[in-house]
Amino acid sequence: MLEYELLTTGRLSQALEYLDKLEGVKLLAGGTDILVDIKKKSGRLPEFDYLLDISNIDALKFIRQKNDFIELGPLVTHTMIINNRLIKDNFPVIVEAAKTIGSNQIRNRGTIGGNICNASPAADLLPPLLAYRAEVVLESRDSKRVLPLSEFIKGPYRTDLKTNEILTAIQVPNLKVNYFKDNFKDKDRFKENNDIKDNKETNNKPSNSTNIKDDNFKDNFSNNFNDNFDDHFKDYKLNNHLNLKYFSSFQKIGRRRAVTIARLSLALVVGIDAEKIIQDVRVVPGAATPYPRSFITVEEALKGRAVEKIDPEALGRLAAEEMVSITGERWSTPYKKPAIATLVKRGLMIVEKEVAADEED
Ligand SMILES: Cc1cc2nc3c(=O)[nH]c(=O)nc-3n(C[C@H](O)[C@H](O)[C@H](O)COP(=O)(O)OP(=O)(O)OC[C@H]3O[C@@H](n4cnc5c(N)ncnc54)[C@H](O)[C@@H]3O)c2cc1C
Repeated sequence: MLEYELLTTGRLSQALEYLDKLEGVKLLAGGTDILVDIKKKSGRLPEFDYLLDISNIDALKFIRQKNDFIELGPLVTHTMIINNRLIKDNFPVIVEAAKTIGSNQIRNRGTIGGNICNASPAADLLPPLLAYRAEVVLESRDSKRVLPLSEFIKGPYRTDLKTNEILTAIQVPNLKVNYFKDNFKDKDRFKENNDIKDNKETNNKPSNSTNIKDDNFKDNFSNNFNDNFDDHFKDYKLNNHLNLKYFSSFQKIGRRRAVTIARLSLALVVGIDAEKIIQDVRVVPGAATPYPRSFITVEEALKGRAVEKIDPEALGRLAAEEMVSITGERWSTPYKKPAIATLVKRGLMIVEKEVAADEED
């Protein structure tokens, strides 16, 4: 029998105080993961002396629009996600994934924060959040840090959460801002280029910019080249040049139709320009690898391609190869290899259809 003291508070500051003062504190949000682990005496559960119930902290239940991102509190439940217009309109893959989680009861209690911090390889919100390049805000009594979700997830059931921290927000950047960050964020590369000040050709061109045709955009880069990164970023945001259109899909397969943990899932987000060239793409399978991550080889193979010229079947095979290159051959490989290939193929075909339908509108 596990013995621990149950603590509860409605205030974030007091929760952080508890974490600061006490050793061996475990957090409880909706309880749909941790209570099962406690009951099963799961080996994954570290020893703890206190269970701190944070579910009454109203300050952690919000969905709000900020300048360049939408911010969700960690206590937002799956049901709240499904019913939220802001999320539906901006990040449909998150909604589609939330709809597949457990049963009504689980969706009403389970939270986005719990899904992330439990860090199961099969956690359904991780692939979409990674695909949208979400960031997590982690707070302790004396500090606050923001980390890309891809860096926060350290392994299966492992995160970078410190014992005195609480996940206090999840920030999902507007897709176009994301695109910019992905392609031009590399500040060191910026600095390197900056050193060669006389060579405009080199200075102007962030290394991934081959498909960006907007001269104004390049001008902004060259004119303001000695400004800091944030100023470049601001220029981009003001002018909003890239005008990509996004298409997406989420698929999940499990052992049965309802209340099922993913045996495999796939979040796919594709941004195309006016000429139907894929400029931005995120391919993130769930339960395919020890922890969800972008399938970079597939993403690279898609970037710069015209949508109608892609070969979904071949890209599916490429995804299967990428999976095996990460996991090696396992007992599940004979099942997962063709399954991931099919999910990628099907996801790309959905996107192709959506693009064609959009053209007709
Ligand atoms: C029957 C059943 C079906 C399920 N089906 C699915 C499914 O289909 N897909 C799926 O992805 N999951 C599924 N789950 C798992 C679970 O419901 C989800 O992962 C859920 O989102 C967990 O949220 P929670 O609030 O209940 O987390 P909790 O159990 O309260 O916490 C989970 C972990 O996160 C930590 N934690 C929670 N909040 C924070 C925070 N703010 N800061 C730091 N650490 C925190 C806790 O300490 C704990 O380690 C299922 C569970 C059950 C019991």
